[in-house]
Amino acid sequence: MTARTPTDDVRIVLVYSSLLGIYGDRGNAMVLARRLHWRGERARLIAVEPGRVLPDDADLYLLGGGEDAAQVSAANAMRLDGAINRAVDRGAVVLAVCAGYQIAGHRFTDGNGVDHAGLGLLDVVTERSAHRAVGEIASYSDILSGDDGWLTGFENHGGLTRLGASARALGRVHAGIGNGDGTDGAVTGRVLGTYAHGPVLARNPALADHLLELVLGRPLAPVACAEVGQLRAERLAKAGVTEGLRLSA
Ligand code: GLN
Repeated sequence: MTARTPTDDVRIVLVYSSLLGIYGDRGNAMVLARRLHWRGERARLIAVEPGRVLPDDADLYLLGGGEDAAQVSAANAMRLDGAINRAVDRGAVVLAVCAGYQIAGHRFTDGNGVDHAGLGLLDVVTERSAHRAVGEIASYSDILSGDDGWLTGFENHGGLTRLGASARALGRVHAGIGNGDGTDGAVTGRVLGTYAHGPVLARNPALADHLLELVLGRPLAPVACAEVGQLRAERLAKAGVTEGLRLSA
């Protein structure tokens, strides 16, 4: 990532969404761009498909979910390309969802029990579980605050993820499976992973603002939107989570 000046567009790369785009994960890019525009900031969305070179000078990279075969192709292409690793070394921010999250780790095992190398951006390893995790997931993340700390989404994955010493969990699971040990996702530096689809940033816009604040290096003005609290309340109720809510909606 080259140094940003305050007038630069925020460069957001949507990585291989034809391979990593199940459950509408590309919507995360739209949410980020729209939330920048609402604050008078400029966003440049760069969608890169396999076979094309990924830029290594962008601010934020988005990796979505995918089925096993697509996930392996995407992981191999990203490793060969090397741009995301170079960008992270220079301070870029990454949001990686489900298959993307597994790819961001050191390695993952596919549905045939074959191990594949990941990017090593997150200190996590994914192994296959006997049971698929499918359904609503709700977790509480202390990287956010108040009701915004509640993250809801939809998960569907056959892998479970173990965190190493340099990763911390993104959130503590209150409903669903996530990593499989009572936590969901991982954070290492400016790289965040989660099992939550939704798209996760549409369901949890405070997480989108957190990523943008990491990029911009300053707080963003709040955006009032009653639907966010209403959706959170609806999804938490659906997931059976009632504890600790101070919902304003
Ligand atoms: N293929 C991976 C798994 O099943 C990830 C699935 C997904 O991205 N939803 O674990």
